[in-house]
Amino acid sequence: MNKEVDDKKSIKLDLQAAFAFFGKYLFRYFPKEGYLQLSSYVVSTHDTAGKITDLKNNHFIDNIVDSEKLFEAMDRIADGAQSATVVLHAKEGTDAYRISLNSSEFDEEGKTTEAVGIIEKLDHYTNRSEMVSALGNNFHSIYYVDVDNDKVYTYRVKDEIQGMFGELLKTIPGYTQLITEYVSNVVLEEDKLHMLSELSVENLRRQFMIKDTYQHDFRIVRDEQVRYCRAKFVNVSGVGELHKMVAGFSDISPEKQREYDRIAYSDPVTGEDNYDSFKKKIRDRREPGYLLSMDIHSFKIVNSICGVAKGDETLKWISDNILGVIGEKDLAGHINADRFAIYCANDDISDVIRKIEKINLQLQKVSNALKIPKIVPYFGVTRWDPGKKVEEAYSEANFAKNRIKDRKDVLYQVYSQADTDKILEEKRMEDDFYKDLKAKRFEIWYQPKYDPKTNELVGAEGLVRWRDSSGNIIPPGRFIPLFERDGLIKVLDEYVFRTICEYQRKWQLEGKKIVPVSINLSRASLYFESVVKRYHDIAGRIGVKTELVPIEITESAAIDNDNIKGLADRFHSKGFPLLVDDFGSGYSSLATLNMKCFDTLKIDKSLIDYIGDLSGERLLTHTIALAKELGLYVTAEGVERKEQVEFLKNIDCDSIQGFYYSKPLPVEEYEKLLG
Ligand code: C2E
Ligand code: MG
Ligand code: MG
Repeated sequence: MNKEVDDKKSIKLDLQAAFAFFGKYLFRYFPKEGYLQLSSYVVSTHDTAGKITDLKNNHFIDNIVDSEKLFEAMDRIADGAQSATVVLHAKEGTDAYRISLNSSEFDEEGKTTEAVGIIEKLDHYTNRSEMVSALGNNFHSIYYVDVDNDKVYTYRVKDEIQGMFGELLKTIPGYTQLITEYVSNVVLEEDKLHMLSELSVENLRRQFMIKDTYQHDFRIVRDEQVRYCRAKFVNVSGVGELHKMVAGFSDISPEKQREYDRIAYSDPVTGEDNYDSFKKKIRDRREPGYLLSMDIHSFKIVNSICGVAKGDETLKWISDNILGVIGEKDLAGHINADRFAIYCANDDISDVIRKIEKINLQLQKVSNALKIPKIVPYFGVTRWDPGKKVEEAYSEANFAKNRIKDRKDVLYQVYSQADTDKILEEKRMEDDFYKDLKAKRFEIWYQPKYDPKTNELVGAEGLVRWRDSSGNIIPPGRFIPLFERDGLIKVLDEYVFRTICEYQRKWQLEGKKIVPVSINLSRASLYFESVVKRYHDIAGRIGVKTELVPIEITESAAIDNDNIKGLADRFHSKGFPLLVDDFGSGYSSLATLNMKCFDTLKIDKSLIDYIGDLSGERLLTHTIALAKELGLYVTAEGVERKEQVEFLKNIDCDSIQGFYYSKPLPVEEYEKLLG
């Protein structure tokens, strides 16, 4: 008998040991007497007394979060239920236990008198390392969520996160309560609503029907900075149901930043560096090199004939081939459209030019390779030294490149500082133009014309001068070409004309003996529709006869103008004498002489300078003779020396304008010449 008892005991102990080995502990519950008898394993593991008589207040129960559930289960068992199972959580950490009670003895009323209980440590989510591995290790906070009972147990919370919840984490909050608190405290305003719906239990339930993890990225504001965070949920309830889950929150800002960098710094067409990454890489260089801006002549054709996809393919091809040509230390980036930037780490420009030529040769092959029209690149080149702003170098390279954009025969252009200085000066001049016009900083100087036979003043030419703010004179050669390009010349010519008219009128009223003062009309002014009417009206309003303000038109402008005949007729009809200026300075044509548009031929200094050279002199002699024969009055310009005057006098040149007689004079000086 004793042996039997002993055997039973040892089997019990063995059983307990075996259970314990698998993380299960036995105890017995005596509902009538109202106590628990814990097995020795529970006693040792949980550091508790073996017999618990005060069911509500004891060390064992104190450590359980949801003890109410256990009491309910015990009540059910006491009432005679066969079995009851509850899952409970320990207050510390995330340990969870399943407690199963099985009634083993009943009284005559069917109520349970003794039940066997098993305490089971739930491995799949109580194992912390497994919980971490479910999520990954880089989570700032990890929670175990008992969805059924709406309780969140905190496993890990880094200090910086703790503050975001206030006092909430000191209790065992409900899931929605915790999320709402978190969202309202830290999530970026515009992400709030979306985040609440993404993280709602309903949404998670839906998501977990198809997979057992779910993540949502959102933004928070911390230390006045926006940071990117990720919430990740792992369903630990089994497929298709949601009872418990593990939730982790992590800061993924560095990762996001890398992703954005990748998007921001790589070009969608070529997959290589874009301008930003190109710039960034050059900035780190410690040795000087050359920066190239590359463009392709009429690349648009590729897009329009072959389609945008082919265009993109071509750009990728170009990018690959540039990278194939340039050296290991060199860089290339796609800027946009058909523009590329290349950095050559060479210190010697001739190496750079060799590379440009190689790229050009290589790109010639693209049309064959991709069956597209021939493409021709062109390059702007500038030097880059460490510390120089890449943007600045790039705009220099661009500037140089743009100078050859209309030249398919020029492959590259090297930037020079003088070019930019010129551009800057031109910009300044354009900005100052109207202000200075109003301030009368444009002055008209007069260069007299003399009859060589009588040495009498027979006329003058009005020449514009620009006085800058420090009182210096800017000669017309510095600004007229610019104003011809941008159209301001029309305004200036009219101003000069009006001013000359006003002085002619003033001197006339003063009783002075005035002579015609010619004004220069630029080629741009010639194209302006009502030019004749306008000039005629101005002279009329001021009260000057148009014969006193002849118009000089340069020979090349006259040749270029298809309507020169009609224009000349209109000027003539209003009484303006016309002079063809600079005859002989360019590709002069005898046809000019026979145009029958002009009254006076102004022979340019370049022809006058032939005087002293025999054949030159003959040319001049015959030209003047021919002109006179055709009824033209002849003025020689740029006459500086006595022998020139003598020569011209002998061949019957009508008048002479040049330094020999006088340089252009300011108005007060010129006025003194008028009788
Ligand atoms: P242009 O009409 O052929 O004017 C004659 C230029 O030759 C003047 O230069 C004059 O100073 C210069 N010159 C005259 N005699 C001599 C000489 O003996 N030796 C030398 N070396 N040069 C002499 P400037 O005043 O510098 O004008 C240059 C050009 O600017 C003018 O050539 C004319 O084409 C243009 N220009 C001047 N004023 C105006 C204007 O009001 N409107 C327009 N559209 N063009 C103007
Ligand atoms: Mg002139
Ligand atoms: Mg001239």
